[in-house]
Amino acid sequence: MPETLSVQCCIAGGGPAGMMLGLLLARAGVSVLILEKHSDFLRDFRGDTLHPSTLEIIHELGLLERFLQLPHQKVSRIKARFGDLEFTVADFSFLPTHCRYVAFMPQWDFLNFLQEEGRRYPGFHVRMSAEVTDVIEHDGSVSGLHAETAQGPLDIRAALVVGADGRHSIVRKRAGLSVEEFGAPMDVLWFRLSRRPDDPADPMGRFDVGRIFIMLNRGDYWQCGFVIAKGSLNEIRAQGLPLFRESVAKLAPFAADRVHELQGWEPIKLLTVQVDRLRQWHKPGLLCIGDAAHAMSPVGGVGINLAIQDAVATANLLAQSLRDGHATVTDLAKVQARRIWPTQLTQRAQLLIQNRVITHVLNSTVPLTPPWPVRLFARLPFLRRLPARMIGLGIRPEHVHTPLG
Ligand SMILES: Cc1cc2nc3c(=O)[nH]c(=O)nc-3n(C[C@H](O)[C@H](O)[C@H](O)COP(=O)(O)OP(=O)(O)OC[C@H]3O[C@@H](n4cnc5c(N)ncnc54)[C@H](O)[C@@H]3O)c2cc1C
Repeated sequence: MPETLSVQCCIAGGGPAGMMLGLLLARAGVSVLILEKHSDFLRDFRGDTLHPSTLEIIHELGLLERFLQLPHQKVSRIKARFGDLEFTVADFSFLPTHCRYVAFMPQWDFLNFLQEEGRRYPGFHVRMSAEVTDVIEHDGSVSGLHAETAQGPLDIRAALVVGADGRHSIVRKRAGLSVEEFGAPMDVLWFRLSRRPDDPADPMGRFDVGRIFIMLNRGDYWQCGFVIAKGSLNEIRAQGLPLFRESVAKLAPFAADRVHELQGWEPIKLLTVQVDRLRQWHKPGLLCIGDAAHAMSPVGGVGINLAIQDAVATANLLAQSLRDGHATVTDLAKVQARRIWPTQLTQRAQLLIQNRVITHVLNSTVPLTPPWPVRLFARLPFLRRLPARMIGLGIRPEHVHTPLG
């Protein structure tokens, strides 16, 4: 017999969306159980950028001072290099927020922090090594989740199930929610190179003939992203590691003496870029948020922040109903109605950049000229506030309105 539990809200997935929602609901007096399939948060790189909008939420929760004691790097400008010309594409220093920068922090530190804060509330529970395998559904209405844990099978009954289990969401699949795919022309190879104290400090985006390369300062190492045409990994591997190392050395000459650290393909991880969105984010008893509702392109590095914004909107709109023991379809529809517009607009902007800029650069065979918006930002610096606002705050930033439980 499976172990059975009952809670007001059961969340599949302890990523940014699931952990933030769990914390906010528990703080509002709702009993929450988060099921996370991994045994800890200490996993490979999967996005470290906490934008001003997320830092503002942490401020609104009264946690900013403690949060900023965790190791992080602050970045107030994003620069890009097209051929030999360097441009500032976004300047966060003018944003009307407490933190006018992006904080780069390993995602596991962020998730551990949310978990520790959540534990201060009696309704907050997390089960690690608990993999959701199915939804419990009767007559089109979801009433819980099945999970496999180290101790055996677990059934959870809940007034609301939230699918926050990321881009490969099992919840959305088992619940039969239909997905609209938008495609992406690229994938990304992620790897590390060591960083020296006299290296540049700012993150770098380099656009060169047929190549896009990103370097994020992680203190003693660089987190590197090498953008490749979709599906071209096998071709790149067939050309051999020495050629790959040579390409990296050309894109980041200051790190040419370190490319030998890439001794094999194993530490070079492939992120298959996927952009999609659920047509409907909910059905009776179930709501999907974060990447489970809309997988984002890495363009702008906004995935974590959108996931957090979804969590805040969900808690604002549903905490009271959940405290009363139910969340109606009308309540769930309100979450989608609030978040669909920012999600759609952000994805449209990402698709535009993917199709116009990234495809163009990856297919280029002659030296690049920067796209006209970038040239305009170079000439009229105040215009850099626009991308800074879009990336740093997003469209329709959310604020914490959940009452304390
Ligand atoms: C390599 C890489 C780099 C990225 N870089 C950035 C970046 O720089 N900035 C940025 O903002 N975004 C970045 N992203 C995207 C960002 O990580 C996601 O958009 C964001 O994490 C989405 O949050 P989420 O909580 O919705 O989903 P996720 O972070 O995917 O969390 C889902 C959680 O659910 C768990 N889970 C999955 N299936 C199950 C199951 N069956 N049962 C139980 N648990 C389950 C997973 O283990 C995971 O912890 C990157 C992603 C990748 C992969």
